[in-house]
Amino acid sequence: MKKLACLLLCLIGCSTTPVADKSFQKQSQAFLDDLWRTYPDFAVAVGRHEFDAGLVVPDEQRRVAEENFVNRHLSAFKSIEGTQLSPSARADRDLIVNYLESELWSLKEFQSHVWNPSRYNVGSSLSSVLEGAEKTENLKLVAILQKLENVPAYYQAAKKSIHRPTREHTQLAIKQNKALMGFLNGDLKARAEKSSLKNEEKDLLLARLLKAEESVKNYVTWLESLLKNPDAAGGFRDFRISPQHYARKFTLDLESSFSADEIYQQAVNEKAEILQKMAPLADGLWSKYLPGKKKPKNATALIKQVIEKISEQHTQPANFVETIRLQLPHLSDFVIAKNLLTLDPQKPLKVRETPVFQRGVAGASVDSPGPFESKRETFYNVTPLDDMDAKAQESYLREYNDFTLQILNIHEAIPGHYVQLVYANRSPSLIKSIFGNGTMIEGWAVYAERMMLEAGYGDNSPELWLMYYKWFLRVITNTILDYEIHNRSLSKDKALHYLVNEAFQEKAEAEQKWVRATVSQVQLASYYTGFSEIYRFREEQKSKLGQSFKLKEFHENFLSYGSASIRTIRSLMLESMPKSSAR
Ligand code: ZN
Ligand code: ZN
Repeated sequence: MKKLACLLLCLIGCSTTPVADKSFQKQSQAFLDDLWRTYPDFAVAVGRHEFDAGLVVPDEQRRVAEENFVNRHLSAFKSIEGTQLSPSARADRDLIVNYLESELWSLKEFQSHVWNPSRYNVGSSLSSVLEGAEKTENLKLVAILQKLENVPAYYQAAKKSIHRPTREHTQLAIKQNKALMGFLNGDLKARAEKSSLKNEEKDLLLARLLKAEESVKNYVTWLESLLKNPDAAGGFRDFRISPQHYARKFTLDLESSFSADEIYQQAVNEKAEILQKMAPLADGLWSKYLPGKKKPKNATALIKQVIEKISEQHTQPANFVETIRLQLPHLSDFVIAKNLLTLDPQKPLKVRETPVFQRGVAGASVDSPGPFESKRETFYNVTPLDDMDAKAQESYLREYNDFTLQILNIHEAIPGHYVQLVYANRSPSLIKSIFGNGTMIEGWAVYAERMMLEAGYGDNSPELWLMYYKWFLRVITNTILDYEIHNRSLSKDKALHYLVNEAFQEKAEAEQKWVRATVSQVQLASYYTGFSEIYRFREEQKSKLGQSFKLKEFHENFLSYGSASIRTIRSLMLESMPKSSAR
C-alpha cells in the first residue's frame, strides 16, 4: 500500500509540471510585478535596483492603496485549488496567501503605523540603494537625489499618522532617527561632495540632504516633546499587545504547526530539563575553576558561579570585531571536515562594522544579498563596542566570552544564517526566496548551534557545553518572556529576574533584552519555535531511516526548499522521499 501511494506521488510531483502550475507561475509573476511597483523599498531590498528612486509617503491615501493591492491579489490566490498544484507550487501559494493575510491584518487590525513611531525612518531605504553592486556611484547618488525629494512629505505624513504611540517605540524612534541624521550629514554628505556629479546635480543633492536632515530633526524634536507632553498625541498606550493580537500574530508570522500556548508550555518544560543538564557539568568544572572554594548546595548558585568564572575568558573591547573575523575559517573547516554540509567558496562572507543607522537593537547580524543581486557580497554586521563605557563593555564581553562568541558565530554565520541564506538564494523558487519565513530562518540558526556541538565541535569541552546550555536557555527564556509580557502583563522586575537569576544573563544583556522585548512581539519566540520543529523532524527521520539516514543529505535537502515554513518543508521532504519512507 505504502509503496503504491509513494509511486503515485512521485509521478505527480516529480516528473511532470501540472498544467495548473503554469498558470500559477504566470499569476505569481504578475503579482510580483505589481508588488514591486507598489512597494519599491521591498523591490530594492531584494535587489531590483530599477526601483531605487522611489520613496513612498506613508499617508492615509497610501494605506488605502495598499489595502486595495492586498485584496485584489488575496482573493485571486485564495481561489486557486491547492490540490491541483505540484507540492512546490502549493508551498509558494501558501507563502503568498500568508503574506497577504498578514499585510491585511497589519493594516486593518494591528495598525502599528498608528502607535509605532520607529516605523518611520528612511535610513534603510537610502542605504539599500548604496549597497547595490550593479550601479556606478554617480547613478546611486542620482537615485538618492530623487528619493530625497519626498523626505519632507514622508515625515509630515508620519506625524499625521501617529496617535497614542507607546513610550517605548517613541524612544526607539528618537534614537534611530538621530543616528540617521548622523548618516545624512556624515557619510552621505561626504560621498556627495566627493562625487563626480555635474555641479548642478551636486548642489541640488547637497541642498536636499540638508532639507532631509531638517525634516528628520523636526520629527525627532516632535517625538521628544511627546515624551514630556504625551497628551499632544492623545497620551501613551501600553506597549503590550492584547492576547488576541498575540495569538493571531503568532499564527501569521511564525506559520508554526503549534499554537502560541503550546509553544509556551514546551518552553516552560524544556527550561527545567536544561537546568538539570547544567548542574552536573558545573559540578564537574568546580574544582578546575574554583579550587578550594566551598561548593554551594543549591544547583542554581553552583551553575551561576562556574559560569561567572568561565565568562572571565573573553577578548578585549578593541579586538571584538577582529576576533569574530578570525574565528570564521575555523567554523567552515569543521563543517567540511565533518561532512555536515557543502559550503560555497564562491560566496565569501565579509565581516564589517554595522552601519550606524542600523545599530540599536541587535549586536550582530548577517546582511545577505537578495535573490536578484546574487553578485553582491554578504556582510556580517558586527557592532563595535566604541559607544559603551568600560563597565558596559566588560559586561557585554563577559556575555560574549570566548565560548559563547563561538556559538554566536555558528548562529549568525557558519553554518547558521549565512549558509542558510546562500542556499535560499540558490533555490529555484523565487517566491520562497522572497517571502522567507522567519521561524525557519531563526530555527535553522539555533538548530545549527546544537548540531555543531553534537558533531563534536569544541571537542566536547564541558565549558562549551555549559555555556551552550546557558545560551540555549536564553532562547527558551525569550519565548517565555515574550509570551508572558503580552499574555500575563509580565513586569520588568520579574523579567530581569528570569534573565539574570534563572537564565544566568549579565545585567546589561538583560536590560537590552527587556528593551527589545518591549518593541517587538512574537519575533522573540520564533527562535525556539523553529528549533523544536526542525530538531523534532530530524530525530523522526533518523529513527525512521536508521542506517540509511545521512545528516549531510538531510541538511542539504532541508535547506534546498528555501525559507519556506518548516511545516511546508517537512511535508515537501516527506513527499519527495517515497523510497525511504516506505522502509
Ligand atoms: Zn573581564
Ligand atoms: Zn538569528
